[in-house]
Amino acid sequence: MNFGLSAEQSDIRALARDFTDREVTPHAAEWDRAEAVDRAIVKKLGAVGFLGLTIDEEYGGSGGDHVAYCLVTEELGRADSSVRGIVSVSLGLVAKSVAHWGTEEQKRAWLPRLTSGEAIGCFGLTEPGTGSDAGSLTTRAVRDGEAYVITGGKTFITNGTWADVVLLFARTGSTEEGHRGVSAFLVPADTPGLGRRAIHGKLGLRGQATAEIVLDGVRVPADAMLGPEGKGFSVAMSALAKGRMSVAAGCVGIAQACLEAAVGYAGQREQFGVPIAGHQLVQEMIADIAVDVATARLLTWQVADLIDRGQPFATESSVAKLHASEAAVRCANNALQVFGGYGYIDEYPVGKLLRDARVMTLYEGTSQIQKLLIGRSLTGVSAF
Ligand code: FAD
Repeated sequence: MNFGLSAEQSDIRALARDFTDREVTPHAAEWDRAEAVDRAIVKKLGAVGFLGLTIDEEYGGSGGDHVAYCLVTEELGRADSSVRGIVSVSLGLVAKSVAHWGTEEQKRAWLPRLTSGEAIGCFGLTEPGTGSDAGSLTTRAVRDGEAYVITGGKTFITNGTWADVVLLFARTGSTEEGHRGVSAFLVPADTPGLGRRAIHGKLGLRGQATAEIVLDGVRVPADAMLGPEGKGFSVAMSALAKGRMSVAAGCVGIAQACLEAAVGYAGQREQFGVPIAGHQLVQEMIADIAVDVATARLLTWQVADLIDRGQPFATESSVAKLHASEAAVRCANNALQVFGGYGYIDEYPVGKLLRDARVMTLYEGTSQIQKLLIGRSLTGVSAF
């Protein structure tokens, strides 16, 4: 067992830290207050190769393995979860699904644009009535000659108002078929009948474009289907199995940012005549953060390593996501406590870290859903 990084992995980690220190961290608070990340960041992410990681160079990708992908995702999460999410969705959920399930035409049509940042992708699974129970989704795609006509609605869609393409999940079979009646489609966002509305008022990830999508008779050619008919839920679940690793890596970044902020502040702030770092109970909080950082990182790297070695990884991905997301919330809470009252003020970074961390236990499967997935895998009994 080798926990060391290769020279290539170390280089990409250094590149990511340098990139985020220059291009993201200095703007994170301002983007959060403005409720909008500067869209120019997308092209910059593409230019540095971060939107093409693990994708073949033949399709505009920048190669690299999943450990490298996690290292970059961690650095983005350390800097700003809103930016990290853009990559996790456009590359992690959409481009990787096109690379895995797409026809040659679909790969050539979308991957070079997605990996360069010329286009952004979003992942349309959740509906107002179906979140955790995504297999019961009600958006319908009805065959009409050489086309499908899609009607329904999606909500909470990350990158929603920015996206050029929606990886959309719709029912082509009957309601009784459940998740087996779902198919996936690549729908250009400018298709007539597709409407988008920005969702405001989020607790965290305020810089990110989250949207509701309305589909009113959206007509797409039959070859817009991604993967076989009726296999849309497999497309979604395979995307989310890897996506959970990406969320976990982002959480490691949040936890690492909490550690750096807490250690830095504890060394400067004096109370009772000494830096608060000298008080044992402050050291306890810092130690608790450090243990969470280390465990979350190891679990996340383990998933990346399993993927890179072609081994099964879905349960490990749920374990990593469950632990890392709960750990990120704990770390942000502890860091805020180290900052005392100043932690509660927007001028300091830890309040944003806590707000951004909070969603991690909710999306790409809540903590309860991860426990059911892990439980099913261990016992062979489905509690869904
Ligand atoms: P519900 O499913 O209604 O769950 C409510 C509560 O009940 C939770 O605590 C849940 O754990 C619990 N619960 C539900 N079922 C069970 C069960 N069987 N056993 C035990 N407990 C259960 N979706 C997308 O498709 N694309 C995106 O890009 C996307 N981005 C998002 C961005 C943000 C900021 C947010 C907040 C959400 C996003 N989502 C996205 C949606 C997200 O994945 C869902 O919110 C999530 O799956 C939970 O669904 P829900 O909100 O409907 O909660």
